[in-house]
Amino acid sequence: MSSEVAIISASLTAYLVLVAMLVGSFINLAADRLPRGESLIRPRSHCRSCGRVLDITDLIPVAGYVLRRGRCATCGVAIGAGSPLLEAACGVAMLGSLVFLGLGWGAVAGAAAAAFIGLARVGLPLVRAGR
Ligand SMILES: [Zn+2]
Repeated sequence: MSSEVAIISASLTAYLVLVAMLVGSFINLAADRLPRGESLIRPRSHCRSCGRVLDITDLIPVAGYVLRRGRCATCGVAIGAGSPLLEAACGVAMLGSLVFLGLGWGAVAGAAAAAFIGLARVGLPLVRAGR
């Protein structure tokens, strides 16, 4: 493998892992809002305690949680480790798929894994709640 191909492969892998983690972030949002009958689009992501609209630092998957030390930057309420763990799970699922299956089928399997995680985290609780 030439070094150019290796660089492109590594860049695509990093990009796909980031996208999977952003999907994880959206799964967290859906898991929070759908059971309450709230919109997935509006209002913008905000702290449930103080109402502050989340900024770009808050929204970086996993790293945002670490940078904020697991708390809202304004009111200090605990965010809960479940959110970054789910984002990390989606990233790890994508990375593992890419490592074992390559960029083509690995991306497909990683996307399927993220979809499965979303179904388990959002869909099953809604079904159990009878919605
Ligand atoms: Zn807050």
